[in-house]
Amino acid sequence: MATTAFDVIVIGEGIAGLTAAGKLAAQGISTATFEEQLFGGLVLNVNELDPAPAGGEAGGAAFASELTQANADAGVTSIQEPVTAIAAADGGFTVTTAGGSYRARQVVVASGAKLKTLGVPGEADFEGRGVSKCADCDGPMFQNETVAVVGGGDSALQEALVLAQYCGKVLLLHRGTAFRAQKHFIDHVAANPKIEVRFGVTVEAVLGGNMVEKLRIHNGKGSEEIPCAGLFAYIGLDPNASFVPDTVKRDATGRLVTSDALETALPGLWAVGAVRSGCGGSLADAMAEAKRAADGIAARLK
Ligand code: NAP
Repeated sequence: MATTAFDVIVIGEGIAGLTAAGKLAAQGISTATFEEQLFGGLVLNVNELDPAPAGGEAGGAAFASELTQANADAGVTSIQEPVTAIAAADGGFTVTTAGGSYRARQVVVASGAKLKTLGVPGEADFEGRGVSKCADCDGPMFQNETVAVVGGGDSALQEALVLAQYCGKVLLLHRGTAFRAQKHFIDHVAANPKIEVRFGVTVEAVLGGNMVEKLRIHNGKGSEEIPCAGLFAYIGLDPNASFVPDTVKRDATGRLVTSDALETALPGLWAVGAVRSGCGGSLADAMAEAKRAADGIAARLK
């Protein structure tokens, strides 16, 4: 069976991958995107992007749909198969998926990241029964109840504000003594009477019967139990890079190391967005990197 070949394979249909593929296809480069789950990546779970992308839809799912449709119109081939390996061979790359293998002259890794978990007893057991990863999707189920959000970065504060629209009370539990989020999120949290902030607190266990009923936390002096119906941990992201050859350098967090031009030390293998070491973290950063890598690849393929 002949192997399907493209000029460029982009791994991941999050906003970074969709943006890179669109920019490549617009320059007449044959491009395929590969996605294991649904297109859109992490922003799928964000009803209101803040800031909204310039000239795009403010809703995460709507924005991802817009880019996906534009890519289809521009001739990008979208393949819904999980990539399991990339190998440099014969002056290009072989990309292996659960469904087959494909060839490309250049590869862009835009596979993003997934939410970290706390790893405490009860967290996995109560997933879907009070433990959630999506404030916008599951917030409405906690009308007038108390929920806990863990973390002290942009994600935790932004999602605590979303949950406060539905819940009676939001306990924002942070292990540190100050947030590292953008000022406007900190100001809005401070002004929201439904959000109670507790610093210097770590979660030890999630407890309950059929559903989450309480958390056991450590408050720096000792353990205490606090009643709550839901737990949303937003404690950072783990990169999705298990399919990238071990020879490609990672930083201490597992993110792929690239040159300033966004190419890894393996010539022709590029990385953009949350999977890349040094990516700024905002949607605008990821999109800017995607466009820059696409331009670099276009110049290389000329
Ligand atoms: P983050 O910035 O890495 O913050 C993670 C937070 O979780 C930190 O406060 C950290 O505490 C805490 N934490 C880490 N591990 C923990 C653990 N095991 N137990 C308890 N707490 C733990 O992650 P993020 O908030 O998900 O943001 C990721 C990136 O996306 C950032 O670059 C962020 O700016 C960006 N982002 C932007 C927007 C926006 O622009 N609207 C929205 C969301 C995210 P310490 O502070 O003590 O380390």
